Amino acid sequence: MSITRKTSAEENLIGDEEKNAIIKGMLYLVATPIGNLSDLSHRAIKVLREVDFIAAEDTRITQKLLAFIGVKKELISYFEHNKRERGEIIAARLAAGESCALVTDAGTPAISDPGEDLVALCAERNIPITSIPGPCAAILGLTLSALPVGRFVFEGFLSTAKNERKKRLNELASEKRTFVLYEAPHKLRATLSDLHITLGNRKIAICRELTKLNEEVIRTDLEGAITLYKERDPRGEYVLVVAGNPDAGADNCFWENLPAAEHVSYYIDTLGMSKMDAIKAAAKDRGLAKSILYRQLNIDKN
Ligand code: SAM
Repeated sequence: MSITRKTSAEENLIGDEEKNAIIKGMLYLVATPIGNLSDLSHRAIKVLREVDFIAAEDTRITQKLLAFIGVKKELISYFEHNKRERGEIIAARLAAGESCALVTDAGTPAISDPGEDLVALCAERNIPITSIPGPCAAILGLTLSALPVGRFVFEGFLSTAKNERKKRLNELASEKRTFVLYEAPHKLRATLSDLHITLGNRKIAICRELTKLNEEVIRTDLEGAITLYKERDPRGEYVLVVAGNPDAGADNCFWENLPAAEHVSYYIDTLGMSKMDAIKAAAKDRGLAKSILYRQLNIDKN
């Protein structure tokens, strides 16, 4: 008797009905189109149709999406300024066994939007969460950038608060990996200029109006981008994909191959730091919380 094994692709096609049944008490993160309604998946439609209620960043926008797919459903708002109080209400309804779909204005919930907080709250309460995949502007930008994307960093929106912005930009200056930013059109010129001042000239892909009629990807460098946007007005939605600095840290990353204890000893022995200060400095170098480095060093704080 011969046994025919199924490939994983075949396995993936099996049991869709069972896999897609709506589960009581589940939070569904539903990705929605970022400019092209045809990108709404069958699965997303099914979830929106069958959950008990939908939490939406802007109920008017989601109402239009629901009208497009012919779904009538209870909608409650969940956005930046009501997320604490609404999060509690949503979590309580989920805990009581209702199912909820979370959608934001566009794209994948929790990526640069308040969905992140609801996920954290539900995880804390052991409420099951699943994600219905779909468009995400950052991922589209990366795929179209023609820059190295084997490793990348997502930075979202740069802060508009002066000090925080400066700090982030300085950190990005020594980032080896390609990084992705979101930007609003009225801030594009300032951001290109700040990037150029802090990073020098770098390759950049300016991805505009992705999935829409006027989708455009300009692959240039920061100087080229600044010149271009002197001549034209920024319009629409932007993802900026910026090349990392491959030479970053080449000189000052002396600790890269050192075990944590030797890294700390270096600061004590060579720079005469106290043990506390040395641990603080080493933790900062390694991008670790002090408590984690303590654990690595097996040091009892007391
Ligand atoms: N959660 C969303 C996602 O998965 O992409 C992102 C939400 S964030 C509040 C909105 C930002 O995403 C916009 O300001 C813009 O930078 C970027 N974005 C959204 N849609 C876009 C599009 N069609 N083309 C380019 N960028 C877009």
